[in-house]
Amino acid sequence: MSEKQADLALHEAEPDILASVQEKVQACMQCGTCSGSCANSFAMDLTPRHLWRLAQLGDTEEIFSSKTFYLCSACYYCTLRCPRGLPLTETMGALKRLAADQGIKKYKNSANFYRTFMETVRRYGRVREMEFINRYFFSLKNPILPLGFTSLGLKLMKKGKISPQPPKLFGEGRFDRLYRKVEELEAKS
Ligand code: SF4
Ligand code: SF4
Repeated sequence: MSEKQADLALHEAEPDILASVQEKVQACMQCGTCSGSCANSFAMDLTPRHLWRLAQLGDTEEIFSSKTFYLCSACYYCTLRCPRGLPLTETMGALKRLAADQGIKKYKNSANFYRTFMETVRRYGRVREMEFINRYFFSLKNPILPLGFTSLGLKLMKKGKISPQPPKLFGEGRFDRLYRKVEELEAKS
């Protein structure tokens, strides 16, 4: 079975995975303000407006073949400008989470990227580039990949942009309590 067929089989097995997304954008009137406001739409294969229409139609296959929601940088501009007041940034985030939860292969690297980014923030209260990128490469299980970035890494280190500090392996992370609280609130909602 090809990667695409496997992903499609997964979508068919769970036809309701889009229900919460559909609810959020049900009132979209297709005015296009979100697309016109989005600084990243030039790189998206579907405009945000098009994505919301597909969500209304329940077109899971088309939505999860697109890279649009993964290119959302959560700037909130579309959310601020939507005349219907729809939670668009939150809905883009919900699609990212769905793609990760469903284990759709196409989005696996992006999901790993977000996960490792948030893990370093949890531990240090900010992103530590060196550890973050090492964890990301490690999650890709491709030991050759980091070698292609060696000269860039050295240049950044020389300019003091990244620091080769050893990772913090023990003890409470700086944002552990905050993350636990958010998990509690999410479990209740
Ligand atoms: S701005 Fe709001 S109403 Fe207009 S297309 Fe986008 S989501 Fe729909
Ligand atoms: S929140 Fe995402 S979709 Fe909305 S304008 Fe910003 S980048 Fe575009």
